[in-house]
Amino acid sequence: MPKIVVLDDNMVNMIAAGEVIERPASVVKELVENSIDAGAGRVAVNIEDGGRKLISVVDDGMGMDAEDLARAFEPHATSKIATSADLLGISTMGFRGEALASIAAVGTVDVVTRAADSIEASCLSIDCGKAEPVSPCSGDYGTTIEVRDLFYKVPARRKFLRTANTEMTHIIERFTRIALAHCDLDMKLTHNGRQLYHLVRGGAIRDRIAQLTGPAIADDLIELETEEKSIKIAALLGRPTQTRANNKLQYVFLNGRFIRDKFISHALREAYRGLIEPNKFPIVFLFLEMPPDRFDVNVHPTKIEVRFDNANLVHSAVLAALREKLLSINFEVSARMPIATVSLHGEQQTGKEGQARRQRIAEAMADFFKHHKPAAGPQQHLGFSSPTALKSAQKTAPSKTQQAITQQQDFVTKPKKLLQIHNSYIVTEADEGFVIIDQHALHERIIYEDLCRKLAEGNLQSQQLLMPETFDVTGAQAEAINSNARLFEKIGVRLEPFGPGTMAIQAFPSMLAKVNRLEFIRDLLDVLTDTGAGLDAERVLHEALDMAACKAAIKAGQALTPEEMAQLIADKDTIERAGRCPHGRPTTIKFTLDELQKQFKRT
Ligand code: ADP
Ligand code: MG
Repeated sequence: MPKIVVLDDNMVNMIAAGEVIERPASVVKELVENSIDAGAGRVAVNIEDGGRKLISVVDDGMGMDAEDLARAFEPHATSKIATSADLLGISTMGFRGEALASIAAVGTVDVVTRAADSIEASCLSIDCGKAEPVSPCSGDYGTTIEVRDLFYKVPARRKFLRTANTEMTHIIERFTRIALAHCDLDMKLTHNGRQLYHLVRGGAIRDRIAQLTGPAIADDLIELETEEKSIKIAALLGRPTQTRANNKLQYVFLNGRFIRDKFISHALREAYRGLIEPNKFPIVFLFLEMPPDRFDVNVHPTKIEVRFDNANLVHSAVLAALREKLLSINFEVSARMPIATVSLHGEQQTGKEGQARRQRIAEAMADFFKHHKPAAGPQQHLGFSSPTALKSAQKTAPSKTQQAITQQQDFVTKPKKLLQIHNSYIVTEADEGFVIIDQHALHERIIYEDLCRKLAEGNLQSQQLLMPETFDVTGAQAEAINSNARLFEKIGVRLEPFGPGTMAIQAFPSMLAKVNRLEFIRDLLDVLTDTGAGLDAERVLHEALDMAACKAAIKAGQALTPEEMAQLIADKDTIERAGRCPHGRPTTIKFTLDELQKQFKRT
């Protein structure tokens, strides 16, 4: 056994840094929070190479004098609390006094700071815990902190840094969380010299949401403001028609701090129960204010979790407030139809008159679709991307695998009768029984395989759009489009800038002619900007194909003609692994006569 030694302060800080400083985004969060605590009105964040090369935060806050600056980077040095009693009423973002010490332990730090009553600024350089003496220098009021070469002496951590793009996505997410809670703060974010965001202060929260997540989301939010059991609740709620596949667009703030809390998440889910599909997530921006002595923020190093004195009370207050608001709105009438934003004669319609008119149009359309079933013609109405050409090519020279699959699934290759039930499933007789086919899952699989094959053959044709389709992008989305240029090119989607904050779809894969292009791009951008996912290029590509296949496939609930059903069953045989849809759900379930006989007690 080696001898026990007591680690020196520097080592202790390096180890402690692991808890607070996980990646460049953590540095951004800690530094901007310090600026907020220093009463700043402006904060500019400047990043190079995803934070690996440089993270710089400039504020116009109260600054520090030379004496404070010399202390600020020591472990457990804070100006925000002094006694244990202070821990019970924390109203600042920081209080643990460990962020600066942790940052300085794992990177190179240069600080210039000038307090409001000082005639000169002070500066300080620290290299992985080793500080030079503080010296006077020239500088503006406020504080500038530059962090370079993060983790350069901690290879174990540096190794875990992802690509600049991924780190940037994390930084944007932290920046967004702070920005949503501080409309009174002017905030800028720049990456490699490119300004991603400039959020001016003093605007409405809805404007900030629009700048950070896009106007398509912000415009439709339902506002709510109330007080329940001395908890102030303000919220902007997505409509039930606007759900997402993950909870990325659920932002919960407690006294200006972004938090994650399972009680609150549960309350959000409950509030939308019955209004949205169970596996979907509503868009929610929730701002709670309550006395600081009713919860404890000192339970997690990054303060993302809190402990409520009475979590049930918080749960029930949030649930009651949201539920009441949601149930008071008749979503059926206000549900957005594609036509709702465009007037038939091109004139601008505002206010009640436009709304009533849009509603009449929506009702008329709903009525039309109720009484007119889509026209027959299989290729036309389904937008069937039938891999028929491919099928004949394969039939002439079937591969070994192909033969095996065909044999194994022989029971569906010779369908005798086809019956569609509940407009969702196809039942067909098979030699030794019958099979039930999930029409959406199967079609999705067929298209997915076809897309994969065409992609591999370099045959995924793209079609130039007559009219480019424009859409708004946030800084994060623009960044994602920029850094995923190859992906978009590969799948045949051409996006080009179209004025500030706007992009245009110029070309789209011909195979996906029937897909709602804007929706596809939006969902794909969701995946690309999802910090949690951390997908590599290959996974992202397949995610994109998955998504395309799902959107292009016939839906459950869609009536099919006998020809369409036959086409679907015929295509099934040309596709490998047709037994599972891309999400891994089965497309076909087989029932044997044996089983039937057993069930009917014939054996
Ligand atoms: P904490 O925020 O928990 O107090 P930090 O390590 O983040 O701990 O900061 C230590 C101290 O340095 C703060 O308490 C504050 O007094 C000072 N400080 C840090 N950043 C700034 C800033 N941007 N402007 C003025 N003072 C700052
Ligand atoms: Mg701090």
